[in-house]
Amino acid sequence: MKISVIGGGYVGLISALGLAELGHDVTIIEIDKSKVDLINSAKSPIYEQGLQELLEKHIGKNLSASLSYESVGGSDVSLICVGTPPLPDGSADISYILSAAEKIGEACKDNSDFHVVAVKSTVPPGTTKDSVKPVVLKHSGKEPEEIGFAMNPEFLREGRAFEDFLNPDRIVIGSEEPKSAEMIEMMYAGLSAPVLKTSLTAAEMIKYASNALLATKISFANEVGNLCKRFSVDVYDVMKGVGMDHRLSPHFLNAGCGFGGSCFPKDVSALASLAMKMGENPYLLNAVLQVNEHQPEKMIELLEARTGPLSQKKIAVLGLAFKDFTDDIRESRAIPIIKALLAKGALVSAYDPLANEHMKALIPKITYCTDAKSALLNADGCLVVTEWPEFSDLNEEFHVMKDQIIIDGRRILRTEQAEGICW
Ligand code: NAD
Repeated sequence: MKISVIGGGYVGLISALGLAELGHDVTIIEIDKSKVDLINSAKSPIYEQGLQELLEKHIGKNLSASLSYESVGGSDVSLICVGTPPLPDGSADISYILSAAEKIGEACKDNSDFHVVAVKSTVPPGTTKDSVKPVVLKHSGKEPEEIGFAMNPEFLREGRAFEDFLNPDRIVIGSEEPKSAEMIEMMYAGLSAPVLKTSLTAAEMIKYASNALLATKISFANEVGNLCKRFSVDVYDVMKGVGMDHRLSPHFLNAGCGFGGSCFPKDVSALASLAMKMGENPYLLNAVLQVNEHQPEKMIELLEARTGPLSQKKIAVLGLAFKDFTDDIRESRAIPIIKALLAKGALVSAYDPLANEHMKALIPKITYCTDAKSALLNADGCLVVTEWPEFSDLNEEFHVMKDQIIIDGRRILRTEQAEGICW
């Protein structure tokens, strides 16, 4: 198939490469010229395992990037993968989606073949049916039977995104008629995953509900973990026992300093904001967010209880990315943690295997180090914020600290000196 992927960010780039790997002809359409140039010269604009090799394999063959929407006219499918960032009230900004829909419509004007416009971005329920569809039809001048619409949410995890693309738990396809759903199903031929066909709006809601439930599990584990610590009980033992129940699963019950990333905080806020707009009170979603906001404060409180006042104390922060195997710092728990340390007058030295540069652009006034040991040198305390596997081997490196006060926010350390945030 010929596929135009609109947006060359995390989701667009991974999807485009995955679809190229499945044998399709793929064009990435992107408004950021620097990303187009990087992709066309086989350089990945983001870090993701295996991505660089795949770019080199497909670019110039069955994959290219462009600033122009021209390829949409000759494509079977347009896959919308642009961002839906949060507005100040927490609701999702769908302006990038609408702008992409307008341009897709214009590019489809002279297209004589059936074309499917599929939304992969996370969008509020009703967006594909009530916003994307009318905008594409208006700008293309086409009748509803000439263009199909689908909603195909993405469930990838950054850091393991390509693995997730090739081995998804499920493929959800929302549509209004069978032809569009069949084309999207055909696009994924070659993947062995259950396909759930549903309505456009249910597919949109499935994505929000999935992320909200995963975030709820984490906040639940954190709240129970905070209580476990009061009883000197290891919350990881507790959650191991809880996760063995066949009605649950052992995943996403990892207590720690909370969830970050470009999806969970934004999607839970968007769902809560939607609930308010629709006259429902999102008691549970609000609590999930509150617990998550509180965990970084818990970490600072614990540190301060061990070190005394933080003013002029040197604190090493290990891990800046929101999770391991990515350079993405969006909503990383390291951000509120570093800001709280600075507000208390601490001197912060930080290290992350991949995310130093991104954090430097956001918080320039701390010391960035090229390895953990340099960050730990003469430190009065250390906070471990990201679950990078290399941190689990740290042991002697802590001996260069002035005081070996080490708070683990991710249950990654093996050294005996470390104290867990809620274990
Ligand atoms: P991103 O910000 O990394 O990428 C979006 C890209 O779209 C940017 O490169 C931007 O320049 C481009 N863009 C914006 N408007 C455009 C337009 N009109 N035409 C062409 N390109 C345009 O975002 P992302 O992380 O890839 O997320 C995209 C969507 O997927 C969001 O709705 C997000 O919630 C959802 N999602 C993200 C993840 C994830 O792990 N990042 C996982 C599942 C779903």
